Amino acid sequence: VNLQKAEFILSAASARDFRTDGLPQVAFAGRSNVGKSSVINRLLGRKNFARVGAAPGKTIHINYFLIDGGFYLVDLPGYGYAKVSKSERDRWARLMESYFAHPELMTLGVMIVDSRHNPTADDCTMAQWFRDTGRPMVVVANKLDKLKKSEIGPNLQRIRETLELDEETIVIPFSAEKGTGREELLSAILSGAGV
Ligand code: GDP
Repeated sequence: VNLQKAEFILSAASARDFRTDGLPQVAFAGRSNVGKSSVINRLLGRKNFARVGAAPGKTIHINYFLIDGGFYLVDLPGYGYAKVSKSERDRWARLMESYFAHPELMTLGVMIVDSRHNPTADDCTMAQWFRDTGRPMVVVANKLDKLKKSEIGPNLQRIRETLELDEETIVIPFSAEKGTGREELLSAILSGAGV
């Protein structure tokens, strides 16, 4: 597995479409606009693989990408966008609840937060959902390029505390823009997914 080959498999709108073939699933979650698509593109070394800047709230799907035929990268729908309707919010909740109702499907959770800010209440809820699966989780602190050097340490510590991470959970300083942290995320995924 070296991330040479990445193919889009499908957009799941409900549990009926979930992949259940036993391949490892690495699930990515994050607030809308946190840069989840950019992180995925950087990881895979693609420009426009996961759609960057897609209208927030308009993409309530779980997208499956097959990586090197060895595992699925599962792109969970973003959350926390203020301007979505109640019906979209409900749709999001139904889809996420049904994915997390099958924790055996997920091998590793990758949670993306903004390194500039304290995690939101939604981020904390998301981290709790990941924890409840009993599966390992990796936190990616994105947009590192926006921080002053002196802010990095304290911000990472604050993220760790606010999300109540245990000692095994790593927080990776990352910049999708600059490529910082790509190797660390890659090895965390390959070891976490057992591929
Ligand atoms: P998504 O909604 O979480 O998928 O976020 P996108 O990948 O669409 O990114 C949202 C915005 O943040 C876009 O304007 C990106 O160019 C920008 N962005 C993403 N990652 C970074 C980063 O590491 N640094 C900076 N400065 N901007 C970023």
